[in-house]
Amino acid sequence: MATNRTFTMLKPDAVEKGHIGAILQMINAAGFRIVAMKLTQMTTSDAETFYAIHKERRFFPELVTYMTRGPIVAAILEKENAVEDFRTLIGATNPADAAEGTIRKLYAASIGENAVHGSDSDDNAAIEGAFHFSGREMF
Ligand code: UDP
Repeated sequence: MATNRTFTMLKPDAVEKGHIGAILQMINAAGFRIVAMKLTQMTTSDAETFYAIHKERRFFPELVTYMTRGPIVAAILEKENAVEDFRTLIGATNPADAAEGTIRKLYAASIGENAVHGSDSDDNAAIEGAFHFSGREMF
């Protein structure tokens, strides 16, 4: 069922600022079903593994520090066309470029601290979901 699922994290800045409820409301209103969800905190090793594709990028150390500095909400979401529709809902990586009404436009502070993650492919959605959740945590 990977085709209809995506993976998200409400990142540390969104949790710190008290935006969990508002963002989950937008996710529900957009028609996503929550398959799995938890409040958790990534270790340095977790963040380095999760974002390994970016390890040569200049922003990588900053990204790891940011993603490990406090709790996140990790979740698996289900909907037809989940990956693409969720990327539309969150908006561009840089909130300055994000469309009006998107989660990043409303809640992201910068290209680094951009409030929310959304998987960029069905394959990555399955890998990222399995990184955070065991089978018995998915409903
Ligand atoms: N990021 C950053 N600086 C950049 C690009 C990305 O700090 O110039 C961070 C940002 O938190 C982003 C994450 O690295 O969400 C992963 O980058 P990606 O290009 O995969 O963007 P996304 O898929 O999250 O929109």
